[in-house]
Amino acid sequence: AGPRAPVLLAAPSKAPCKPAVFIPVDRSPEIQEARLKLPILAEEQVVMEAINDNPIVIICGETGSGKTTQVPQFLYEAGYARDSILGKTCIIGITEPRRVAAVSMSQRVAKEMNLSHRVVSYQIRYEGNVTDETQIKFVTDGVLLKEIQKDFLLSKYKVIIIDEAHERSMYTDILIGLLSRIVPLRHKKGLPLKLIIMSATLRVEDFTANTRLFSAQPPVIQVDARQFPVTVHFNKKTPLDDYSGECFRKVCKIHRMLPAGGILVFLTGQAEVHSLCRRLRKAFPYQKNNTQCKVTCVPLLMCCFHLPSLSQTLPKIDLNNYSVLPPDEGDEDRDIDSDDDAAGSDLDLDLGDGDSEGDEKSDSSLPLYVLPLYSLLAPEKQAKVFRPPPPGTRLCVVATNVAETSLTIPGIKYVVDSGREKRRCYDRITGVSSFRVTWVSQASADQRAGRAGRTEPGHCYRLYSSAVFMDFEKFSAPEITKRPVEDLILQMKALNIEKVINFPFPTPPPTEALAAAEELLIALGALKEPPTTGRLNQQLAAKLSCPISPLGRVMATFPVAPRYAKMLALSRQHQCLPYTITIVSAMTVRELFEELDRPAGSEEEAAQLKGRRARFLQMQKVWAGQGPMQKLGDLMVMLGAVGACEYSGCTQEFCEQNGLRHKAMLEIRRLRGQLTTAVNSVCRDAGLYVDPKMKPPTEAQVTYLRQIVLAGLGDHLARRVQAEELLDDKWKNAYKTALLEDPVFIHPSSVLFKELPEFVVYQEIVETTKLYMKGVSAVEPEWIPALLPAYCHFGKPLESPPPSYCPGTGRVHCHRPSVFYRVGWQLPAVEV
Ligand code: ADP
Ligand code: MG
Repeated sequence: AGPRAPVLLAAPSKAPCKPAVFIPVDRSPEIQEARLKLPILAEEQVVMEAINDNPIVIICGETGSGKTTQVPQFLYEAGYARDSILGKTCIIGITEPRRVAAVSMSQRVAKEMNLSHRVVSYQIRYEGNVTDETQIKFVTDGVLLKEIQKDFLLSKYKVIIIDEAHERSMYTDILIGLLSRIVPLRHKKGLPLKLIIMSATLRVEDFTANTRLFSAQPPVIQVDARQFPVTVHFNKKTPLDDYSGECFRKVCKIHRMLPAGGILVFLTGQAEVHSLCRRLRKAFPYQKNNTQCKVTCVPLLMCCFHLPSLSQTLPKIDLNNYSVLPPDEGDEDRDIDSDDDAAGSDLDLDLGDGDSEGDEKSDSSLPLYVLPLYSLLAPEKQAKVFRPPPPGTRLCVVATNVAETSLTIPGIKYVVDSGREKRRCYDRITGVSSFRVTWVSQASADQRAGRAGRTEPGHCYRLYSSAVFMDFEKFSAPEITKRPVEDLILQMKALNIEKVINFPFPTPPPTEALAAAEELLIALGALKEPPTTGRLNQQLAAKLSCPISPLGRVMATFPVAPRYAKMLALSRQHQCLPYTITIVSAMTVRELFEELDRPAGSEEEAAQLKGRRARFLQMQKVWAGQGPMQKLGDLMVMLGAVGACEYSGCTQEFCEQNGLRHKAMLEIRRLRGQLTTAVNSVCRDAGLYVDPKMKPPTEAQVTYLRQIVLAGLGDHLARRVQAEELLDDKWKNAYKTALLEDPVFIHPSSVLFKELPEFVVYQEIVETTKLYMKGVSAVEPEWIPALLPAYCHFGKPLESPPPSYCPGTGRVHCHRPSVFYRVGWQLPAVEV
């Protein structure tokens, strides 16, 4: 046998033959006409033959060639939504890395096929319209991963389409790895499952050339996109800061001087998008910097200090009380979801693109119809970009990189590319994240340019020089290699994949990231402790293949990160659950509070912002409570804000008055509902329901909540550097964390900013001008050994002096057992 041809060039080679099954679809004439123009329609037969003959097929085609909307229809027509033997309906599943795409594409396909949303449905993290009749189901990749946890063989599905595989989102990669095993298993069972991987670029070697992934190389079908030529214009100079202003000037020029045709601008985030929209609307009325992600290498660090002895009288949560009921039968639909905005980048750094309004007035009489487009935009507003602009106007869409491949906007002739995107950069080991505006990859820049040539020849204006372009990385690295993976590892362990290191990843995550994730999960109690006997390499190997613990199983059922899942698992005590659910929801939803420090467009706006800020600060104090309540810190503020907002009926007005983001509040409400359902299904007798008018917690409950938070965020413990330990000035008011060598500080927006408690736990560290802890809550030192046994070593004392009371600090120094808070997984074991 000769070498297999890797690329099956699309050519209508064979005489058309009627498929065995044909399910008629009643499309409107306009839809039918529009469909026939799509390149993929010409390849229907090649595509379907490849799918019929092969278990796994890869389809590559330019954005807009019709992959997402048409391939599910081909399959439906060919009877893939029916089981010919049993006569039942089956599901054609399509995964999308972005929520926007899952919703929007299911709506589009339903419309094209003239079928109801009961048949063509979607399911994303918080919502969905799936019914018993669903035959075509769009889901986010995280949702499908959760489904695999419940039904490993995905028996309801006859086809799984992995869309946008070129984006290499973490869950997409894992799904491909899992499906590479599920497909042969289904074949063995006599219930074949088809896997279709769709990509907007031809770079698919990670899937095809990876022998661990697929034993037989799957055929690759290339859809000729019939792309019109796009002339690419580079800037002579590359603006370093004011690329947003440069975009404005470029759009003005195009609009004044060039013939009709839509304009699509690529910027990095929501605030920039809105600011440019405002400027453009004002000018044509109709109605910052590449930095490298800092990777901090964390050598083994041991901060040793004595902790007070355990007080017998202090109330304490019970670490073993996590109310396990095996979550194996018919529990509610829950899902995890990819953080689609890490790539869609809607979180805004305080970049302050500093543009003042109306610095360029237009003399053109033609109005510009300006629309924003980004992931967090409400779906109705997103849908506007697909409709033709009002007569006599020119369409101008200002977008983040959601418009790069997920959505195709009709009628675009000009693309203005800032060349940047906002990325969430993680320190692989510590998980410290920061949002950075970085250059895009060459592949992304080319995708962006391609948007201009869909319907006629177009132009792409790159606001950077060709020399700068040559320095771009060719492709961006797969997400899985760039972020902490503990949530992923927990999900995989819950699938009983113990030796994660042997998993057929299309691109494996770095071993140190895997080790850090396992270490964290062991410390949280989600994985069974590895043996500490045997040879060191055996120990290490055992450590990388720990099975999941009963607590871990409970944690894996919650659709939140493992640290938060641990908090939920412990919260049935003392009626803390409704509060923990609220706190966890608030921590999961980003950007609760409105950015009121932003630069204002006018004096009037500045005054207004100032007033709102004063009001917010006042409210923040109220929400934080007093005395012992206050020690829950920023988490108490979150709890208070949600409580107050819900009490007021969660109105837009209340949110605006009090500096809350209405959208975030609604999302918290949804997540609270979803988590409550998840909790009820794990603890059948919990009988929780979401009470919008939740009573404030009692003082005792706040104490328990602080302990629960500590148990979940144990590795995020920080201790203020004491006066006598000051190394130098940069350590003033600084904290030492277990994970970083550098000083970290409480973020100025925190209610504990001035309090400076000795021990705190933080939700995350964000790096801006300094390393800042956000979501800070105070910890009593005596809780640490009791609640974080995994992080403490009980050393053998050299001698046994009695506990001593230090009059200077008022603290009891405990010498036996002396406790060392430690981190790092190579710490030598200390005998007890
Ligand atoms: P691909 O997946 O290959 O990028 P799609 O299937 O997403 O292509 O898009 C095919 C065509 O359908 C595009 O020309 C696009 O403009 C059109 N389209 C997609 N969604 C909508 C929508 N909601 N409204 C109108 N047209 C749409
Ligand atoms: Mg698509």
